[in-house]
Parts: sequence; structure tokens; C-alpha cells
Amino acid sequence: MTIWINKEECDGCKLCQRVCPYEVIEMADGVAVVTDRCTSCGACLDVCKKEAIGSDIVPRVVPDFSDYSGVWVFAEQINRVLANVVLELLGRARQLAGGLNETVSAVLVGSQVENLCDTLAEHGAEKIYLVEDALLADYRTIAYANVMENLINQYKPSILLMGATALGRDLAPRVSRRVGTGLTADCTELTIDEDTEKSDDKSPDQEDQASKISASKILWQTRPAFGGNVMATIANRYSRPQMATVRPGVMEKNVVENVNAEIIRVSLPLNEMDIKTKILEIIKEPRTGGDITEANVIVAGGRGINGQEGFDMLEQLADLLEGELACTRLIVEQGIMEQHSQVGQTGKTVRPEIYIACGISGAIQHRAGMMESRYIIAINNDPQAPIFNVANWGIVGDVHEIVPEMIAQLSKGGTL
Ligand SMILES: Cc1cc2nc3c(=O)[nH]c(=O)nc-3n(C[C@H](O)[C@H](O)[C@H](O)COP(=O)(O)OP(=O)(O)OC[C@H]3O[C@@H](n4cnc5c(N)ncnc54)[C@H](O)[C@@H]3O)c2cc1C
Ligand code: SF4
Ligand code: SF4
Repeated sequence: MTIWINKEECDGCKLCQRVCPYEVIEMADGVAVVTDRCTSCGACLDVCKKEAIGSDIVPRVVPDFSDYSGVWVFAEQINRVLANVVLELLGRARQLAGGLNETVSAVLVGSQVENLCDTLAEHGAEKIYLVEDALLADYRTIAYANVMENLINQYKPSILLMGATALGRDLAPRVSRRVGTGLTADCTELTIDEDTEKSDDKSPDQEDQASKISASKILWQTRPAFGGNVMATIANRYSRPQMATVRPGVMEKNVVENVNAEIIRVSLPLNEMDIKTKILEIIKEPRTGGDITEANVIVAGGRGINGQEGFDMLEQLADLLEGELACTRLIVEQGIMEQHSQVGQTGKTVRPEIYIACGISGAIQHRAGMMESRYIIAINNDPQAPIFNVANWGIVGDVHEIVPEMIAQLSKGGTL
């Protein structure tokens, strides 16, 4: 595929140069020149108002997705207990469905799980696709992927959301591959694009294309990229459903009143021989501490805490506040705490009522996991520490003086 400039048409406006992500368009004698580093990405094709850019690239046509509709949430459950992230996703699914004027559905797969339907309805599911079978009692990748593939092909949802849990991270890529669609993992924001393209200065063909895109109201899927230094927004124009996973704690739950969900029972022919894996034994990893994604209060420590002794002190504070202890990645790397207590981009995303950051600088990768906390209290002896930029209350001082004072006050019946 080749891109070229028709010199006679070019007025040297440099629009193409500005949009070229690879910076391979140069200006010579007042006209644009495409150098041989061009990757044929096509990003410059539509910008030229003089129609001076030529190409032999065949434009990709947006397929007709008019038979795809509805926002689905995969209702992950283990041992008949719904994952919290499901309810969080239903909250966001309602907002997305509102923008699309479509319905929100939950997909509940398992054995004897019907009693979970009420909770799904209370959190926003208008329809529930219920697939029950003894073979689905425990999660097995192939069995669940078969079910999801069948449901998607039969009912054609426009959007499918899953939790970025251990189970979701296993299932989502399988399903996306099976149905031939893209998948954006670990999204932190999901919105509907209301106005994808303006039709000014477009040829009739382009206008037609633009109106198709605009009418399809694409899902914008935003996630951190390049080590969290930029946020990338990804859109899937060419396949359906638009699939995304979202980490627990990122979205907010909403309770909906007076909702009666329509339950659609689907029975699918499942066969033990097709599933190929058998669960012989389930060995639970021993847990130290609770789940920080569920905590109302989190006391988190960083390098400023200065070793294990400092963390014993933080644990006392967490106990008095009936909270959980968490940490930065450096603390995990130092072997003081386990990875499941790490908050941040490569750890967990938390959303407690109160987050007390002790001796934590507030690097972007850490902030990515705690910024949605309702109230943030930061204790740091450096007044310039970035954590103060996101804190509701900042205490500039030595944690080894401030935390013992907090413990003393709380032990005497004081409150935060
Ligand atoms: C790809 C990538 C992913 C990452 N993912 C994560 C992640 O998920 N989570 C995460 O946390 N980090 C992550 N990091 C690391 C992150 O960039 C930071 O290095 C880390 O968060 C810093 O940890 P910290 O705040 O404990 O330490 P530091 O940055 O060293 O900060 C220590 C702070 O303690 C303060 N302090 C020192 N002594 C005292 C005292 N006596 N009293 C009060 N304050 C004191 C200092 O002023 C300083 O601000 C990631 C990095 C990369 C590159
Ligand atoms: S956008 Fe068109 S007119 Fe402007 S510099 Fe590029 S080729 Fe020339
Ligand atoms: S096709 Fe892509 S790489 Fe080539 S000139 Fe246009 S924008 Fe640049």
C-alpha cells in the first residue's frame, strides 16, 4: 500500500504533517512529501481539504451492526457468591445503555444460581440470561467459553463487560477470540461516543461512512498505557460485541428501585467430554488479612514507613479503625507485604471511604489505584510529595510521630 501527495493540489497547509503519528511527512518547496518511512497507517488520508493525498489503500467498510443491541455484564460468581465487580459493572452498564437507548442484561452462568437474580436486578439488570447446568458448577474455561460464545451468537449484544478478576482475565480473551472481536483489558473508564465524526468537508462517501460511525455510538474504552504514563482510548469500529474488562473497585455500584428483571433461561447442550478439564481438588491459598478492594478504611504504607516495625505500627492503626493494611509496590518488592496488598496500576484498585497514605510519595502508578477513594489523608514529611495533590487532608510531618499520636487518641475513644 502506498501513500503519495499530488503536488499540484497541495497548498502546503501542513494538516497531514500534524496528524502523521510517525512524523514521516516533510515539507519541501511549500508542498508535503511523504518519506519512505511511511507505514501506510492511513491516519493522514481524510485530513486533506484539497484532496491532495492519494493512496491505493482500500478503505475498510464498517459492517452493518444494526442487529446487535444491548449492554451485557458477565455475572461472575464463585460458589454462588457474586463478585463485587459485577454490581459495579452493572452501574456503569446502565449509564452506557442510557446513552444508547438500549437495555442492560446480566449473564449468569453456573449451577443453582437463580437466587442471585434478585441482586442483579437490584443493581440494574433489566434482563438476565440464566444458564444453569451441573457441569457449570465450578468455573472451567472451555465450558464457560462455549456458553458465552453460544449466547453472543444467538442474542448479539453490542457491548460485553467482564471483571478483570482472575476468572475474567481467563475467560474474556477466549470469548473475544471465539466470536472474532477485540478486547480492551483493564479499562478505567467507559463512555459512549456521542459524536464520533463531524461531516464538514467530507465527500459523499466519507459522509456516509461518518454517519454510519456516528450512528453506531461507539464505546470508548480508556485504559492506562506505556507504564501508566498516558491514558489510551480504544474504540472497536469493525466487530461486535465491543468487549472490555474492568478491574474491581474502579466503577461505582448503584442500587435501582422497583426493578423486575426478565429472566431468560437458556439451556445449551453441554457434554463433559467436550470440556476437556476436570477439577480434582480446589486448594485455597491461605489469606493474610482481608480483601483490600472491599475495605471501608485502608491504612497504606510506603517506603517512608521504614521497614517491618513501622508496618506493625500501621497495623495497630488499621485495627483501631477496623480497616485493612495496604502498601506500595516498593514494600512488596522489599518482601514486607504480599502482592495482594499492593495498591496501584500493577496492584489492586481500591475505593474505600477513607484512605490514609503514610510515607507514600504518590507516584502516578500508585495513585491510579487509590484516587477514587472518598477521602484521602496523606502523611508525608515532604510538602512537595505528589500524594498531596490528590489528598483531601495533608499532614506534613514524620509518620513515626503522627501515627503513634493517632493511635493514642483513637485508643482513648477519639475518632477521625
Ligand atoms: C510499570 C510500573 C508499575 C508500577 N505499579 C505500581 C503499583 O501498582 N503500585 C505502586 O505503589 N507503585 C507502582 N510502581 C512504582 C511507583 O512508580 C513508585 O516507585 C512507588 O509507588 C513508590 O513507592 P513509595 O511511595 O513507597 O516510595 P517513595 O517514592 O520512595 O516515597 C516514599 C515517601 O515517603 C516519604 N517519607 C520518608 N520518610 C518519611 C517519614 N519519616 N515520615 C513521612 N514521610 C516520609 C518521602 O517523602 C517520600 O515521599 C510502578 C512502577 C512502574 C514503572
Ligand atoms: S493536508 Fe493536503 S494540502 Fe495540506 S500539506 Fe498535506 S497534502 Fe498538502
Ligand atoms: S500513512 Fe500514516 S505514516 Fe504514512 S504519511 Fe500518512 S499518517 Fe504518516
